[in-house]
Amino acid sequence: MGKSGKVYLIGAGPGDPGLITVKGQELLRHAEVIIYDYLANPVLLDLAPPEAERIYVGKRSGQHHYPQEEITNLLLAKAKEGKRVARLKGGDPFIFGRGGEEAQALAAAGILFEVVPGVTAAVAAAAYAGIPLTHRDHTTTLGFITGHEDPAKKLSSLDWEKLATAVGTLVFYMGMANLENICEQLITHGRSPETPVVVVRWATMPGQETLCGTLVTISAKVRSADFKPPAVIFVGEVNRLRDELRWFDNRPLSGRRVLVTRAAEQTATLSDALADLGAEPVVVSTIKIVPPPSFADLDQALGNLDSFDFLVLTSVNAVSAFFDRLNARGMDARALAGLLTVAVGPKSAEALVARGVRADLVPEDYRAEGVVELLKNRVTGKRLLYPKAALARDLIPAELTAAGAAVIAPVAYASAAPADAAGKLQQAIADGLDLLTFTASSTVRNFADLLDTDSLTQAKKIPVASIGPLTSATARELGFTVAIEPESSTLEDLVEAIRAYFIATDQ
Ligand code: SAH
Repeated sequence: MGKSGKVYLIGAGPGDPGLITVKGQELLRHAEVIIYDYLANPVLLDLAPPEAERIYVGKRSGQHHYPQEEITNLLLAKAKEGKRVARLKGGDPFIFGRGGEEAQALAAAGILFEVVPGVTAAVAAAAYAGIPLTHRDHTTTLGFITGHEDPAKKLSSLDWEKLATAVGTLVFYMGMANLENICEQLITHGRSPETPVVVVRWATMPGQETLCGTLVTISAKVRSADFKPPAVIFVGEVNRLRDELRWFDNRPLSGRRVLVTRAAEQTATLSDALADLGAEPVVVSTIKIVPPPSFADLDQALGNLDSFDFLVLTSVNAVSAFFDRLNARGMDARALAGLLTVAVGPKSAEALVARGVRADLVPEDYRAEGVVELLKNRVTGKRLLYPKAALARDLIPAELTAAGAAVIAPVAYASAAPADAAGKLQQAIADGLDLLTFTASSTVRNFADLLDTDSLTQAKKIPVASIGPLTSATARELGFTVAIEPESSTLEDLVEAIRAYFIATDQ
């Protein structure tokens, strides 16, 4: 017999990928096979090694569930092959997830297993809807109940007599199809008809939706809103605290889908800041940084670094491209000892520090114009090295040459559209967007170039947030409506301007 495998029953949490446990995350990183459900957020699969086998056992096309027996057999088979199997289940594996049955089958077959708890839907939805499940003023008891979406079972096994009044907070899972029946039973068995009820759908996800009512009113509200599963139903006085304790779905950008179009390496800062404000960032890279057609000019400059007085770097990409090539040629930051280093703004300066260099000069205006202003009176008779993007404007070489400097401007990097960008963008537009963000003229151009005519027409109806005047000009030239442009061209100011815009539109 070969080495025997092991199965980890892992709770994926309710949806927000940040709600998986550290242990669950670590196990996914080392999984060889992942068997996952409909309710486990698929982005968690990205944690696993690329070569890991990923098997979906959630709802098949339509509403059919994968038969439990097949899932169990699959677990046993993979474990017997000697694999480390991550069985990833929505919420907690042992709460209405049939994790108990899977563990029993593993135990019976003598296969090693571990169970990693997860944040169950009731706990997560309560937190994200602002409903403390227990509260000294309202209740000290709590029950998790299945509302069986299978209408054949019709909730017959529940002892309504006891449930209705003995437990303060009741949380129903899988109860949407039976909501009316649940409410009726509770009232019939002695619960006050005025008891507040809150239904939370796709809890913890950017599109989380909530409906509030009472045992009498909630089913009609759910029907008229066409509210579908997955949702949990909260019954109890604690629901009254939501008005006071809401925090997730009333942030300035809650429910807003915002397109973030940046080079792949740089999307995180902007999308994280937008997500903090409640937005759903839809990240599509329309541009990726690629090597220039030829390194010959840059290499020649790198071979003569001693001959320069200034090094001018006008973007984080320029910093990366310059240092990558420097390092590739066996040199490092020490080669810049004799140069005055100019960074266009704080982000480039930070990128320089990461490469071991402190910028000597940073302009007040974080644009090429600012660099010209800063340098024009200091560079007469000096030699400047300005490694630039293939499509960079000619402003710095032209103005500083006019100021009496010798400007050498080798192309250090170029940009291209990633292969999957067009499809992703058109899908994002079809799904609906509330704002487009652009942080460079090139991203606007690439965006427009990638779309077919219909999508482009759609996209032009969506307001644009642009980082500064040049990007705005390009956007307007292409027919977009620039609704947001910060006074100072930094990501922080852009985010602040977006926040202010949505607060104003909400009023
Ligand atoms: N093991 C899971 C429950 C699976 S049963 C857990 O611990 O959460 C499936 C039911 O869980 C759904 O019908 C719904 O009632 C609830 N559920 C799961 N994820 C949810 C979510 N993100 N938002 C609301 N309800 C959810």
